Amino acid sequence: MKIKAINGFKDILPEEAVRWRFMEEKARDIFGRFGAREIRLPILEKTELFARSIGEATDIVEKEMYTFADKGITMRPEGTASLLRAFIEHGLHVQQPVQRLYTIGPMFRHERPQKGRLRQFHQMDVEVIGAPEPAVDAELMAMGRMLLDELGISASLEINSLGCPDCRPGFRSRLIGFLENRRHRLCQDCRRRIDTNPLRVLDCKKPDCRAQVQEAPSILDALCDPCRDHFAAVCRGLEALGVDHGVNRFMVRGLDYYTRTTFEFITGDLGAQAAIGAGGRYDGLIEQLGGPALPGIGFAMGMERLALLMEQQETPLPRPATDLFVAALGEKAAAYAFPLVHELRRLGLSAAMDHSGRSLKAQMKQAGRTRANYTLIIGDNELEQQEAILRDMATRKQESVALQTDAAEQAHLLALRVRQNVIVHP
Ligand code: ATP
Ligand code: MG
Repeated sequence: MKIKAINGFKDILPEEAVRWRFMEEKARDIFGRFGAREIRLPILEKTELFARSIGEATDIVEKEMYTFADKGITMRPEGTASLLRAFIEHGLHVQQPVQRLYTIGPMFRHERPQKGRLRQFHQMDVEVIGAPEPAVDAELMAMGRMLLDELGISASLEINSLGCPDCRPGFRSRLIGFLENRRHRLCQDCRRRIDTNPLRVLDCKKPDCRAQVQEAPSILDALCDPCRDHFAAVCRGLEALGVDHGVNRFMVRGLDYYTRTTFEFITGDLGAQAAIGAGGRYDGLIEQLGGPALPGIGFAMGMERLALLMEQQETPLPRPATDLFVAALGEKAAAYAFPLVHELRRLGLSAAMDHSGRSLKAQMKQAGRTRANYTLIIGDNELEQQEAILRDMATRKQESVALQTDAAEQAHLLALRVRQNVIVHP
């Protein structure tokens, strides 16, 4: 019996890994342009960390976490909590008042697997800690937009404000009043949410619930003056940076820690999995986790969804090539080529050869498969005359090259020949 991967856990095969590499490199590049530094975090954390940050009454904590109950530890379902835990633990705010950090890696949620929804999925997560200014919110969303643009992905940006501990409770009780009157028309989950997490009812995806909340009071009308000013400034900031966006008063994130700005990058191209990336402000969270009273804002992009969209939208990818393929014909030629290929690799080139004594035709085919820019053809006879043929695979032009006895010297000369601008360290 063959052993297969667990449902919801997916292999990323070499062809696909090229897309992932491209995506990651773009992200690192762009995050760096905005001054973010990388932080690498463990996958397991104490369960309490997620209960205290994401919230006890959220879908994630209630039913989606992979927890080792006897050990009190959980496989992280998202990145923000771990990142803040590390930030607080190492007192990173002492070094620098505003920190921009990012982390990339796998997250785990026990959900029903479907296209773009897995149990092990990956996020690229960016957080800015220590800056309350609305300009930072706009800048962060503009950064998300820049990443999507450079990955060739079109998406719309929706924003909302969830207010703060001053104005949200008032809105919450008004909303509860509104929902109570319609309780019998809401789904089972939403009936329960009225008591545990009423704001969540606003973004229930079920059509009946959606219809019911159309008339619900708007959080945007309930904001206190500072929250209203903040939200207006975020919108102005986005306009200043030319970032298109729409306001969606029904958007409520699935994590309890958000305050003020929340946002989502949305696509219509992935069926039910509309959110590509999402985030928001969490001004009280760091203190709630036992850290200093610092504001924060962040977002996470889902890499599986990005990869699917890149595939659909045919984002061009760099294709790996081999600098030089050495086609050695005969035992002596192979013995000569063996250390030569090694020396070429030592010089930083990608080089390959055949080890199974195949025919010239088969080896040329193999050179094509490895996308070789050049092929060096060495036969036993040529070796005796200290000569080989160098073929430019694109132009098909061939030239004769004098062979050196010393492999390192030969590699050096070939490197200069086949790679423009190569820096060769002798
Ligand atoms: P959704 O509404 O699709 O469940 P979410 O609100 O739970 O998303 P977040 O917790 O905000 O998502 O995570 C940010 C991003 O991570 C999402 O926009 C999505 O791209 C991705 N993501 C979340 N859960 C999954 C999953 N199970 N599989 C793949 N990607 C996911
Ligand atoms: Mg979810």
